[in-house]
Amino acid sequence: MGLLTPDILVNHVADVTPEMLRARGIRAVVTDLDNTLVPWRGTDIAEEITAWLLALKDAGVAVCIASNTRHPSRLERLAEQMGILHVPGNASKPRRRGLRIALNLLNAGPTETAMVGDQLFTDVLAGNRLGLTTILVNPLTTREFIGTKLVSRTAERWILRGARKRASS
Ligand SMILES: [Mg+2]
Repeated sequence: MGLLTPDILVNHVADVTPEMLRARGIRAVVTDLDNTLVPWRGTDIAEEITAWLLALKDAGVAVCIASNTRHPSRLERLAEQMGILHVPGNASKPRRRGLRIALNLLNAGPTETAMVGDQLFTDVLAGNRLGLTTILVNPLTTREFIGTKLVSRTAERWILRGARKRASS
């Protein structure tokens, strides 16, 4: 169960502040794309995201997208618009390969890197397997791949309920 437990829970990716990262010795961020930075399959970048990325940049925190996308050209375009790095193609989370590529691009080690995403079974699991600090955000929208909706989300609710219970006891 430990591998499915995020280190930090936040509502929105913008809640991951440079101060929070600095306090944990984190100087690099690997981030999910869909439902973390943009709505599922979205193509517009919200001002809030742009401001967040600027704040990280000012603080010297490098950012790299690792997405399980089936649309690499969209990923490439969005990463370029945001001015951040990306793992080319499908990052295959929760496998470690994609995140290893991200760490290489970021030139950072696992203990100085955070993995931010909205899914336990891909983002958090991959991050924990590599020893990154894992941060779970609430999904930006409820529109998503039907398999994710039916299977993963139900199990996520169940696991998070247990994690919150443990945290409060
Ligand atoms: Mg996602």
